Amino acid sequence: MKVGIVGCAGRMGRMLVAEILAGDGVTLIGGTEHGESAFLGQDIGGLAGLDEAGIVVGSDTDALFSKADVVIDFTLPQATIGHTQGAIKHGTALVIGTTGLGNEEQAAVAKASNSVAVIQAANFSVGVNLLLALTSQVAGVLGNDYDIEVLEMHHRHKVDAPSGTALALGQAAADGRGVDLEAVSKRVRDGHTGARIPGNIGFATLRGGDVVGDHSLIFAADGERLELTHKASSRTVFARGAVRSAKWCENKVPGLYSMRDVIGL
Ligand code: NAD
Repeated sequence: MKVGIVGCAGRMGRMLVAEILAGDGVTLIGGTEHGESAFLGQDIGGLAGLDEAGIVVGSDTDALFSKADVVIDFTLPQATIGHTQGAIKHGTALVIGTTGLGNEEQAAVAKASNSVAVIQAANFSVGVNLLLALTSQVAGVLGNDYDIEVLEMHHRHKVDAPSGTALALGQAAADGRGVDLEAVSKRVRDGHTGARIPGNIGFATLRGGDVVGDHSLIFAADGERLELTHKASSRTVFARGAVRSAKWCENKVPGLYSMRDVIGL
């Protein structure tokens, strides 16, 4: 598999470069950044803290998609739209880790998945994907007497809230209960909010320091509380899952796949 990385100088981009260069089974064929990036022309191995890889950061996205079998995207929602177009044009599979996609960007992802295999996950860690499955199961068993709250904490640089993973966990809880998340989600509480509305799924967001990603599901009833928690201490888990997804999509028919498909849940 020939793999390209868009956003290769970002925090996740560098992790992905390191994961691919250190592993086997896939070949890194290039990486891009946006046209104004200060990293253009720098060696991507050096940027990832490794020996020089002999590949420099470029900005020609079209050329990257034409050469790669699969491209991994951890960038920005607006950039991801452009990358879906590259995938369609060149028949290149796409692994998308970018979060915070709005309806327009998500529609572009869905469109690409008619032409190529697209693996999209709000969180590429195996542990979180198990947590998603457990969340649906627990929400289904416990029923409406248990108030569901989703709590997340991330580093101070994160720009979207709640995290994509928190929203995915809320969705998993709603699916388990058989309700529409949009109709029951309570994303913000401030001031005189009144009592909690039965059946709501609440979200709370914390930001600070270098926290890679903590997520908790709290199921609170009269007399007991069940909590499910996952803590990521290194971004490596996301990079490892994304590279595993890139390998998995070889010869897959077009479609929109999730990390749950990749790990066979
Ligand atoms: P970052 O800001 O460090 O990196 C993003 C990179 O994308 C930057 O280097 C930026 O210059 C580059 N970029 C922007 N526009 C581009 C374009 N048009 N072409 C090429 N490169 C472009 O951010 P990060 O912490 O690496 O996170 C990136 C995204 O991945 C965020 O949405 C974050 O929430 C998400 N993320 C997802 C997971 C997951 O498991 N799904 C894990 C961690 C982060």
